[in-house]
Amino acid sequence: IIFGSCTPATETNTISDKTISYKVDSLMSLMTLAEKIGQTNMFNGTWEFTGPIPADNSSQEKAEQIKNGMVGAMINVLSAKATREAQKMAVENSRLGIPLLFGYDVIHGYKTMLPVPLAQAASWSEDAARQGAEIAAREAASAGQHWTFSPMIDVSRDARWGRIMESAGEDPYLSSVMARAWVQGYQGKSLADPVSIAACAKHFAAYGFAEAGRDYNTVDISDQTLYNVVFPPFKAASDAGVATFMNAFNEINGVPATGSTFLQRDILKGAWGFEGFMVSDWGSIGEMVTHGFARDNKHAAELAMNAGSDMDMESRAYERELEGLITEGKVDIVALDDAVKRILKLKYALGLFEDPYRYCDEQREKETLLAVENLQGAREIARKTMVLFKNENNILPLSKEVKSVAVIGQLAGSKDIPLGNWRGQAVTNSAVSLLEGVQSAVSDQSKVAFAEGYILSTGTRDFIHELDIQPGDESGFAEAIRLAKSSEVVIMAVGEDCFQTGEGRSQADIALKGNQQQLLMEVLKVNKNVIVVLMNGRPLAIPEVMDQAPAIIEAWFAGSEAGNAIADVIFGDYNPSGKLPVSFPHHVGQEPLHYDRKNTGRPVTNDFDSGLVFWSHYTDAPTESLLPFGFGLSYSTFEYSNFSVTPKEKGATVTVDVTNSSKIDGTETVQVYVRDVVATVTQPVKRLVDFQQMEVSAGETRKVTFDLSEEDFGFYHKNYDFYAEDGVFDVMIGGNSRDLQSIGVTLSF
Ligand code: BGC
Repeated sequence: IIFGSCTPATETNTISDKTISYKVDSLMSLMTLAEKIGQTNMFNGTWEFTGPIPADNSSQEKAEQIKNGMVGAMINVLSAKATREAQKMAVENSRLGIPLLFGYDVIHGYKTMLPVPLAQAASWSEDAARQGAEIAAREAASAGQHWTFSPMIDVSRDARWGRIMESAGEDPYLSSVMARAWVQGYQGKSLADPVSIAACAKHFAAYGFAEAGRDYNTVDISDQTLYNVVFPPFKAASDAGVATFMNAFNEINGVPATGSTFLQRDILKGAWGFEGFMVSDWGSIGEMVTHGFARDNKHAAELAMNAGSDMDMESRAYERELEGLITEGKVDIVALDDAVKRILKLKYALGLFEDPYRYCDEQREKETLLAVENLQGAREIARKTMVLFKNENNILPLSKEVKSVAVIGQLAGSKDIPLGNWRGQAVTNSAVSLLEGVQSAVSDQSKVAFAEGYILSTGTRDFIHELDIQPGDESGFAEAIRLAKSSEVVIMAVGEDCFQTGEGRSQADIALKGNQQQLLMEVLKVNKNVIVVLMNGRPLAIPEVMDQAPAIIEAWFAGSEAGNAIADVIFGDYNPSGKLPVSFPHHVGQEPLHYDRKNTGRPVTNDFDSGLVFWSHYTDAPTESLLPFGFGLSYSTFEYSNFSVTPKEKGATVTVDVTNSSKIDGTETVQVYVRDVVATVTQPVKRLVDFQQMEVSAGETRKVTFDLSEEDFGFYHKNYDFYAEDGVFDVMIGGNSRDLQSIGVTLSF
């Protein structure tokens, strides 16, 4: 075999490896046009997730195409056995025996569920995000997967958008840090190591800026926002060596992302020098017809390939139309060759030409899925994602010797909802519920009782049906209230069903659904010791809960080990350290809401003395967030002192002392924000430029130093030109984006 390799996969395998490039060239010199097109074609395995080929009329046709080398990749072929069967078809039957690439949406775990990505971002911990992705990769790889369609690093500022749950939140810097960690976690040290899988940065670009938070909607965005807010996490992923990118369903300033030469060729493959390949989103090539950008599927194929979309996921446009388009000269063979080369490079980097079955090991699959250490890891990561919103009179942590606990709420009893949406191959009802977590945490003498109380959903939540919310059913109230009254402490879960967030799950209202809040208020009347546990995948508008409940923990959808991780926090085995990656509003009407807003020409607070009453505000809701970005309490208290900013050559050195003034060891995330006070393009009132997370023992003071460079003070100007402007900057430091100390400095660059 000319193109094959006798050398074993090495530690150095990357898609930019020169020797891989030679092998690909050699292989491509043998390929027919049809075989090349085949590589750009991705097929769905099956909706039923049972085997490689769906048991419908097309199965034969699909099998034939694989055997003829007309398929490059498959999605949703799940299990070592199923991928082996499909791989065999390709390798043993097709003329050149080119192996298939198997991809899957491993969004926050394969079988062991980690917290949803938004929650992982709340850890503000690169290590936690990386370790989570490693667990996910290990499991997926053992089940035959080479490639995950993750991370989703669309900066998300609208809580109505269902996919905010899959993101790292509203901030470009935090999203960039998370993007890098996720890519590193999935891809490991080398793609050649079959416990790693290729990552996919998605959705390029600006999918999170859908108008009115409605999924798939139009995006109309300024260059300033695109370059300074949307692009940075993608650039970070590209710099971290992410193997693939996925484009997006949305149009952006009149051009569908899938057909955008600017995004795919000029920015990604041009300015950033990305060497991997771009896969379309599911059917997004064909969708350009509905957008009103392409006349038909053939025209869509032409536009997409010319714009730099290398692989077609399920539009079947390349498979059917590319040959004609190339013959007619509408698509240059150079574009196709480039796409094929990028795809084949990944297959080489993954070592598939050496052993196409290296990911298809049923024994390894059995040992890896739900392995004890994966679950243990999921629990450790999950507890780092919890955010303490409120803790009046230090009601938390609770003693494990508590006499009686009433656990209330459908969410608290659910073994399913904590698994979240995009739950991979997780077994239904396999999460540790909050109830179970509490039961195993307390002492043998403690009494734990459960009442469902409200019913949020009946579980009708497949892709097709809308969620079935049960607003009026109060039949469980009496029992819940009775239990609350007779117990020392109440732990009550409220929030969302996990399928209220995710793709196609945008919401016009983000208050608590159904009658959860009504029951909570009733419970609060009979018991003052109520710990509220929030389970949700997006910011919720919950001003009354914030006002009335004495203690609140944001637990998100925390994954397989949810109940144990939440109990770790409630009973003090873990001192909460999470911080919000998104602002929580008072009211949905404030959305899109983000801390790095700009000033208007009007003061932000009413200033009657100046006679200026028409200030920028709502007359029926607050202007500021309910809970700011970066916010999260701890059982410790941290004090900031001796803050200093010293200008240096093209930057500044920032120091601050952080004291843990409590009696309990804790973790604090020190955040640095910057404002360019006067600039040629108006700048946000603050924007996160750096942070450090550190453990601070009880009574200890730690000095923290940040080295800020031009990169932290500058921004992208016109023509993608990045630099900092000389002048006055405010440098701010603190434990969240609202409570900050500020020092003004004059800097030149
Ligand atoms: C989503 C992608 C996902 C793809 C494959 C699409 O609907 O937008 O994020 O990776 O489906 O399942």
